Amino acid sequence: MASLKEQLGGLVYSTEHGDTCPQCRRPLTECECAEQAEQQRLAELDGIVRIRRETSGRKGKGVTSLEGIPLPADELMALAKALKKRCGTGGAVKAGVVEIQGDHRELLKGELEKRGFRVRLAGG
Ligand SMILES: [Zn+2]
Repeated sequence: MASLKEQLGGLVYSTEHGDTCPQCRRPLTECECAEQAEQQRLAELDGIVRIRRETSGRKGKGVTSLEGIPLPADELMALAKALKKRCGTGGAVKAGVVEIQGDHRELLKGELEKRGFRVRLAGG
């Protein structure tokens, strides 16, 4: 019977099976690409949330977009959910930008300031 050491030495660590990340080619369980992209995004923010009303290509009142909220993705989703509820409307989070349906700039400015964010109304 082979010793434990010999058995372990005979193991082949295969990368043939399991999903690997197309970016770093590591198994998805070890991949840190999403985390790094997230940290990169946060590092580039200046801490000021820009509120903008966007109507181009959209029906009705368009959406109010909140850009540059310095929060990691999961907290950003939670905040978006709370803001949607506060405005009584729908919305989405796209690439770190929260979009709330309709024109709720003043309300959203107040809500964000209440949470300690620095807010600037931009464009629109
Ligand atoms: Zn990766």
